[in-house]
Amino acid sequence: MHDYQAPSGLLNQRTILVTGASDGIGRAAAISYAQLGANVILLGRHQDKLISVYDYIEKKGYPKPAILPLDLAHTTAEQLDQLAQRLLDEFGSLHGLLHNAAVLGEITPLEQYEYGTWDLVMATNLRSVFLLTQSLLPVLRQAAAASVILTSSSVGRQGRPYWGAYAVSKAGIESLNQIWSQELKDTSAIRFNCINPGATRTSMRQYAYPAENPETLRRPEEILNLYHFLMGDASIGITGQSFDAQPNN
Ligand code: NDP
Repeated sequence: MHDYQAPSGLLNQRTILVTGASDGIGRAAAISYAQLGANVILLGRHQDKLISVYDYIEKKGYPKPAILPLDLAHTTAEQLDQLAQRLLDEFGSLHGLLHNAAVLGEITPLEQYEYGTWDLVMATNLRSVFLLTQSLLPVLRQAAAASVILTSSSVGRQGRPYWGAYAVSKAGIESLNQIWSQELKDTSAIRFNCINPGATRTSMRQYAYPAENPETLRRPEEILNLYHFLMGDASIGITGQSFDAQPNN
């Protein structure tokens, strides 16, 4: 599946919501889903950055996307329920959901970790993934076989000193993936899987490793095969798994 080549039109007539679609891996994934035929809903904090992704997709002639400016760190369950109702009214069903948005927080010992940063990281990276999934379940259930992809990290598989709330939030993501998939596998056609992108040339990576030469890393556009495989019908029947987008890195 790492060398999976998506056929053109793989995601025709699908509606797919991507969080953190304004930058980095989420931006690249959203554009590629649109290229494969999907109507993409671009969710992110900054409207101007979302508009630039929107313009890019429109200029390419891919299906018209939608923009959803939302700060996932500060949304309530009620706001997300209203969002779900809007999606139901406008699109009828949601075929795919890529939970990609995250913040790094601080790289510092737990002993010195700031309480406020802890809350911000956990709210953005973990709580929002739980709440958004919960709110969107009724819309995901309307699709014949919806795919939910969560985004983990190697520090979510094995804790690493100084990675604090980020590592804990990603361990939580692995757990959420297992629980959602097991709870829903007998009562719905929704599949849940998790991707660890691996070291990728983005601003988050640069912030975490300021001394690293970004040229040594793959660009987001180069790691998307697994994102296509898990979003398309080839992965129907696969649920509760956690994959590496760059297994050899
Ligand atoms: P970037 O920092 O490049 O992009 C993060 C995206 O998340 C941006 O679109 C950002 O929006 C959005 N975002 C952050 N906070 C919020 C919020 N409160 N509400 C809505 N959107 C928000 O990160 P990457 O592309 O590097 O990372 C993507 C995913 O991959 C993350 O889950 C990350 O943990 C994971 N990952 C990345 C690795 C890497 O090497 N790059 C390695 C392992 C995992 P805005 O543009 O407004 O800031």
